[in-house]
Amino acid sequence: MRQPLVAGNWKMNGSKADAADLVNGIKAGAAKVQKAEIAVCPPFPYLQLIEGLLAGSNIRWGSQDVSNESDGAFTGQVSARMLKDFGCTYAIIGHSERRMFNAESDALIAKKYDQALAAGLTPVLCVGESLEEREHGKTEEVVARHLDAVLEGAGAKAIGLGVIAYEPVWAIGTGVTATPEQAQEVHAFLRQRIAAKSQAEAEAVRILYGGSMKPGNAMELIGQADIDGGLIGGAALKSSDFLAICAAA
Ligand code: PEP
Repeated sequence: MRQPLVAGNWKMNGSKADAADLVNGIKAGAAKVQKAEIAVCPPFPYLQLIEGLLAGSNIRWGSQDVSNESDGAFTGQVSARMLKDFGCTYAIIGHSERRMFNAESDALIAKKYDQALAAGLTPVLCVGESLEEREHGKTEEVVARHLDAVLEGAGAKAIGLGVIAYEPVWAIGTGVTATPEQAQEVHAFLRQRIAAKSQAEAEAVRILYGGSMKPGNAMELIGQADIDGGLIGGAALKSSDFLAICAAA
């Protein structure tokens, strides 16, 4: 059985004080969450603070990105080893906002994935189509390309060591959520694609849904056979909403 994972992607929001308030709120209510593993992904500068607040708890933390290089003259980048140093378990990789605003390619994302694994982090590989791609019937083609960047390079074993997040771009931050059927269809497609390489890795890997998941729709989405939790943006910024999603998982 795959343990559900609910991870909050805080993006570039809040202050140091907000980060502490949010994580303390989550900590205070986490005991009521029975089944799901909980993780938060704050902005880089707050990782040390979060590490101090969460060390010794069951709540894990991670980054929103990682460098594709291991160390050296790469101004402004943060290596996987540094993130590990701050107690990170997870690293979000290939989020659509980075694909869009930072022109991240599949090849670059595959390198980031390798870096994360090499440092002992669990990469959370984001895949997902735009509205235009969906409307042109290209959803499977696009998510297959995103997945294959790792699956065909690093292999099924590497995929099994990570987490996948299916995040349709049209659902991110828009308030429009994929229906449970739409999401399940893509999740099943991704799992089958991994199964073609390794049945064991396909059964083990957690595939999260992300895109306007809220307390009101989380249970139905996560109740689908191939949906193993959520990657949460907006609703992760309010501890009560985030905890309600965790409890629904
Ligand atoms: C995200 O950006 O990963 C995300 C899922 O955002 P939201 O929940 O706000 O749609």
